[in-house]
Amino acid sequence: MLFAGENSLTGIPIKQGMDDFDLDDISDQRLTEMFSLAGCQDCGACARACPSARHGGIDPHELVQGMLGGGSEENVWDCLLCYICDDVCPADIGIALLITHLRYRSALEGDAPGRFKRGAASFLKEGRGFPKGPRTARSREDLGLPEMGNGDRAMRELGKIVSRTRFSHE
Ligand code: SF4
Ligand code: SF4
Repeated sequence: MLFAGENSLTGIPIKQGMDDFDLDDISDQRLTEMFSLAGCQDCGACARACPSARHGGIDPHELVQGMLGGGSEENVWDCLLCYICDDVCPADIGIALLITHLRYRSALEGDAPGRFKRGAASFLKEGRGFPKGPRTARSREDLGLPEMGNGDRAMRELGKIVSRTRFSHE
């Protein structure tokens, strides 16, 4: 796996990045092999560290064990993609990237929640995941921040990301 940066909270390197995003075959069988799920030590460290699991969202331990048992994954849209599970996983499973693949599959099947679809539409149109509105403008003014704008360069870079990740595929 490639070095792709570091966790902004912990500073620990994130080992998977966009170059590891492989969407040619996203069946359970392929993902199980690709992420070496059989290497899971069933320790539960990921679930104990996961902020989403703590609040009734996704449980990464159950997700991995469920996939190994042939079960279906649930709650993938509740993941915060914080990568904390990856920081604590002794088997180096790459749970956050696994969840990203599962989300992609869920979106292809039309199961992405409305709030994510709205965020994606806004992201493609304006380069941000939320609409530019008067409330945001007021908050920025209160904070002494300049008016929000779209840089041409930023939008060009966004175009490359969208193309490479097939973000706008569907
Ligand atoms: S990346 Fe998702 S599954 Fe992993 S700890 Fe964060 S919220 Fe939990
Ligand atoms: S931390 Fe890693 S090894 Fe432990 S249960 Fe979670 S996925 Fe399996």
